[in-house]
Amino acid sequence: MISRRLLHCFNRSSKLLNNKNQYRFESLNDTSNLTEDQVLVQQAALNFTKEHLLPFASEWDQKSQSPIEVYKEAGKLGFACIYSSPDHGGSGMDRVSASLVFEALATACVSTSSYLSILNMNHWIIDTYGNEKQKAEWLPQLSTVEKFSSYCLTEPGSGSDAANMKTFAKKDGGDYVINGSKCFISNAGFSDLYVVMCKTGENERSCILVPSDAKGLSFGKPEVKMGWHASPTASITFDNVRVPQSNLISTEGNGFKIAMTALDGGRVNIASTSLGSAAQCLAKTKEYVGQRKQFGKSIDSFQNTQFRIAEMATDLIASRLLVREAAKKIDLNHPNKTLYASMAKIQATEKCYNIVDQCLQLHGGYGYISEYNIERHLRDLRVNRILEGTNEIMRLIVSRQVIKQ
Ligand SMILES: Cc1cc2nc3c(=O)[nH]c(=O)nc-3n(C[C@H](O)[C@H](O)[C@H](O)COP(=O)(O)OP(=O)(O)OC[C@H]3O[C@@H](n4cnc5c(N)ncnc54)[C@H](O)[C@@H]3O)c2cc1C
Repeated sequence: MISRRLLHCFNRSSKLLNNKNQYRFESLNDTSNLTEDQVLVQQAALNFTKEHLLPFASEWDQKSQSPIEVYKEAGKLGFACIYSSPDHGGSGMDRVSASLVFEALATACVSTSSYLSILNMNHWIIDTYGNEKQKAEWLPQLSTVEKFSSYCLTEPGSGSDAANMKTFAKKDGGDYVINGSKCFISNAGFSDLYVVMCKTGENERSCILVPSDAKGLSFGKPEVKMGWHASPTASITFDNVRVPQSNLISTEGNGFKIAMTALDGGRVNIASTSLGSAAQCLAKTKEYVGQRKQFGKSIDSFQNTQFRIAEMATDLIASRLLVREAAKKIDLNHPNKTLYASMAKIQATEKCYNIVDQCLQLHGGYGYISEYNIERHLRDLRVNRILEGTNEIMRLIVSRQVIKQ
């Protein structure tokens, strides 16, 4: 069944389609293995990107400006709750559709697309594991992005070894009193809700909702970063932060499972943003090497350029096929979903980073200056090999699983 939001999104997109505004981001966009609905979602996301992201992404990067209104517009299309159930405002789409949306948005702005992935992860956590009261309280406003949220797992002393977290929530009367800190949290200081993974016992990790007005919550200054300038990142300190025990998601001890299951989706989403960025840079580069002349010839007449284009196109398509397969595995709740999500993240974030680097090289000096936008894509893509679990941790997951099977 097509959700009301999805219908709205189709109508909006078809208006754009009719006025010749269609955004075609690359000739290799093969839709033959997508369903009719998925093709429509992709086109809607591309049109949204053309209208709301493409003209402004450079400025957001230069001014380190988070595009608040664009998230709200994306919320109207159901892009902040793509794979949540429609019962509490979710769009009820599949993970392949989500991947298509993140890929489309990242053709213009990787950091905006990536933070939207975090909004989806948090929405999905509450939709999947929350109780009726928590869903009714938070999901309608998270769906429309009237409220923003942050996913809080990483700590100063536990990044890759996330289970070794120290932040502790101690029971006191009907409350939890939380002490500890988190670091590198996207949108920290600007979100209305923090989805916090913390300990509730020596060997017990739990997931607790902390609203931004909770007393004792404080935030570091936004980090100065290589990329993702449009998405602020900061630390959080919990100093005797008191929240009611009814803010616990699911049961005590279930938090690590919740965090990791959400990350399966997060990894596919992040891999999808790498696809969009690489696809966009490759499309621009094809055009550029056809126009730029050196030694009296266009540079696409050199075999070196032709071979690089061939390798980039092959890597992009191979990555996309694996990312879509991983997305399908999550939809099927397949036993290999974590394996495929990890493989997709390795493949797409590394190959696509290399594609963008090659695109920069083929632009010569022009690739290095910001006007051509390739350097922004390269800076924004670098972190995809680090977050949602580093690619070394992805290799650990893949090797353990492969050796076991
Ligand atoms: C811009 C940005 C946004 C982020 N947003 C969020 C967010 O919203 N929420 C959140 O919770 N976190 C967020 N993170 C944190 C991110 O997920 C972590 O940085 C990441 O998990 C790595 O942890 P670490 O930085 O502590 O590195 P470490 O774990 O210290 O790793 C350092 C290096 O050692 C390697 N390494 C570690 N253990 C092993 C091992 N066993 N075998 C081989 N190699 C190993 C790593 O792969 C890495 O290369 C964000 C980070 C950034 C940079």
